[in-house]
Formats: sequence, C-alpha cells, structure tokens
Amino acid sequence: MNDFYNNAVKRINNIDPSIYSKVTMKNWKSFRSKGEYRSDAVLIGEHFRRVGELLQYISKNSTHFIISLAELITNDVMEFNSEKFEELFPNIKECECYLISRICLCYVHWSILLDSDEPISKKYPDMYEPLIKLIERGGGQMSLHHGEIDGGFGGFPRLIYADRGNLKATNISDQALNQIIKEVEHAEECLVKYKNDGRSEYTCIRCGKKLHIHPNVTDWGYQWYKIICETEDCYNDNLS
Ligand SMILES: [Zn+2]
Repeated sequence: MNDFYNNAVKRINNIDPSIYSKVTMKNWKSFRSKGEYRSDAVLIGEHFRRVGELLQYISKNSTHFIISLAELITNDVMEFNSEKFEELFPNIKECECYLISRICLCYVHWSILLDSDEPISKKYPDMYEPLIKLIERGGGQMSLHHGEIDGGFGGFPRLIYADRGNLKATNISDQALNQIIKEVEHAEECLVKYKNDGRSEYTCIRCGKKLHIHPNVTDWGYQWYKIICETEDCYNDNLS
C-alpha cells in the first residue's frame, strides 16, 4: 500500500504551472493581492509551527527551511532524489521556482516515510499540508534571499526553531484562508471610500460591529491608515 505516496503524486501532478508562468522578474512580489499574500503568510507561519512541534518531539533546537524533514528524522538520504522527481513532475519543472520543487520533493519524502509506517511521521502525517496548500493556491513563488524566505508576503527566516511549536495551531481550511482574503479586500474597499469622501466608520465583516479608519503619518511623512474593529482582538490592519 502506497496510499500517501500515491496521493502526493496526484496532488503534485495537479499543480498548474500556468499560475507561475505569469510571474516575471518585475512583478514577483506583487502578482497576488494583499489579501492573498496575507493568507500565504498564515500558511507559512503554520508550517513553522508544525516543524517547531516536530523539533521539540525529536529534541532538536532548529532546522533549515529547505531540509527534507524525512531525511532529518531518519538521518538518511532518501532514494527518491531530484532527478527522479523532475522525471515524474514536468509541470513542477515548468514552474521554474527552486523552492516549489524542493518543497514538493520533501513532501514526497514524507509520504514515503508514512507509507513505510515510520512512527514519527505517523505522529505528524500532515506535516507538509500548509506548504503544499500554499503552492496549490498559487502562493508558492518565493526565493531564498539574504538569509530569508522572501516573497510578496514579506520575509520569514531560513532557520526554524523548536519554540515555534509553542504557538497555537492556525485554521488553514480553504474557508478560513478565503475569509482572510475577503477581510483584507473589504478593508481596502473601505479605505478607497474613505479617501474619496472622508467617511471613517464602516462595518466589520468578521463580527458585524464598527470598523474605524484612522489616518496616520510617519515622522518621515509617509501616509498610512489603521483599520481597526471596535471589538477587542478583532480585525486590525495597517494599510497605505
Ligand atoms: Zn470585528
């Protein structure tokens, strides 16, 4: 039975490279909307948390973002290598993004471990779910740059530390991610209206209470806006 492996192959095969062919040198940090980047950051953050939890379990302090976690826990090189990967997934080669290929390869490694009944992987079967979801949803365009994982979502460190595992798990269902996108879009729409007629009070789509816009200027004259819900710990964003 190779259920995990077969499922991984199916999912990776279904990744549409045409999403990534629209990325150019010029637009690679802005080809998605602000809301999409916000949901991308949530997925990457959840990956860091899951890896942190795994690191705690295997008593390791840190690991690198691009390390194959299957190789990390088995301390062995997987037979399924990048040549085999490229043969099997021409669509991923077409994406021309090193991190997309690398993450998908690590995901295949993890599913091979799962099929072999390796106990640590079985404890964390969905280890690569956030990153694969990120790539499936079109947010996989990122690069390694100056010690950071860099993309339109901002920067994440290359090193993942065990204490990330102390954070609360995030809901990464499509519904939750799409809600994040909707909320940012709503805030952007309110801001356009505010800039048009000066009205600063709107309705929060998360809780239904009042959403306020407060204009701000930095010391060096940069205009930005706080968009905040009157409910404590509800929507709170800075836009410009
Ligand atoms: Zn609210």
